[in-house]
Amino acid sequence: MRLPLLLVSLLALGTSAFAAPQVLGTKTLVDHGDPSNRYDVVFVGDGYRAADRARFERQVARAVELLKSTSPFKEYWGYVNVHRIDVASSDYGVTQKGQGKRNTAFDVTYGGSLRYVNGDREAIQRTVARHAPDADAIVCLFPDLWGGVSYGEVCFASGEYPRTIVHELGHTIGRVADEYDSAEIKVPQALLVLGELLGRPILCAMGWRFRNVTSRTQRSAIPWRHWISPSTPLPTHPSLDRVGLHEGALHLKHGIYRPEQTCLMRRENAFCVVCREELTLALSAKVVPYSWTARRLSGGGMSLGFKTIVPGRVTARWFSGEAPVAATPSVRVLANGSVRLEVADATPFVRSDPQRTLVHSCTFTVEGAKVSTRTDLHRQFGQPGLRGDWRRHFLLGDAGGITAHLPN
Ligand SMILES: [Zn+2]
Ligand SMILES: [Zn+2]
Repeated sequence: MRLPLLLVSLLALGTSAFAAPQVLGTKTLVDHGDPSNRYDVVFVGDGYRAADRARFERQVARAVELLKSTSPFKEYWGYVNVHRIDVASSDYGVTQKGQGKRNTAFDVTYGGSLRYVNGDREAIQRTVARHAPDADAIVCLFPDLWGGVSYGEVCFASGEYPRTIVHELGHTIGRVADEYDSAEIKVPQALLVLGELLGRPILCAMGWRFRNVTSRTQRSAIPWRHWISPSTPLPTHPSLDRVGLHEGALHLKHGIYRPEQTCLMRRENAFCVVCREELTLALSAKVVPYSWTARRLSGGGMSLGFKTIVPGRVTARWFSGEAPVAATPSVRVLANGSVRLEVADATPFVRSDPQRTLVHSCTFTVEGAKVSTRTDLHRQFGQPGLRGDWRRHFLLGDAGGITAHLPN
């Protein structure tokens, strides 16, 4: 009996490795607008059979509820779209090393005692590219009861723990590091046994890549120095509940620092100011937060206006050349002329914006009844959702009003 069973399961594994995963359906759960101008989060699942679809739906819904109530997603929720792709696996639960392989859609596997989780990220990306092509971040949930890890655009997390899912999205969207000072997850046991002596140089060197952890103690070298009051001692004693240089991060207790005592990238339920800043910038980099309108004036020329979706305080100015012409929502342009609109998000969540991610600028050129627009590309657009034609020309109809999103 054993041999045929083994053969059958081997055959099943062989086919599952090449077959496209079975997609039962897709659903947009949060729709705030054109995906090319929003931050699109996509959930897929591994280790859920068709019969477990309702369970997967519930877990995604719970994660979305927590994401929506966590700053800065809470404030910038209008920038976010969420989609769910329901994928059926043959087996329930994912593979645990040493316990026999499960036949699941994306082959998610626990790395034994190392507590890593990984899966077939290429297959996940292929599936998402087909069913939700504007994805900016992908979360693969699994039904087992612990674990989570982020690999750039794709992260994995137990569907049972919404907080872990938001934590992994912190990595995936904000590109921020763990602020744990213990190796509960992810760091190999051997590295712990060898102690921080071996681990520290490697992980401290890694710390240079992140905005929320650092091994440097000189004020001018700290990535989040703009959040630290001049009177705060560095390093900062744990009893001081303020932004500073708090020892312990990246799974190490010593020699590496984080911004605050608490953070969702640690064990708590809210992001620290630095992670919140990075997430705000990441969401804003994907979204041009206004639409514009143009109305023909009876006396000639155009009236241009805009509507913003910036959640908080916004400054907007119209310029003619370099000279400001108005700080009002609308401006009048002569029949032939051009004017530039600059919309800036003045959120207190961001204190350092060297790439001017929160400033959006667009030049409108009016020629007779035609308005052409040019978005100033002063930001870096590497994200898949932001692509396509930046120059759009609009002809005004007799009704006199049009509305368009830029870019579209
Ligand atoms: Zn983490
Ligand atoms: Zn943080």
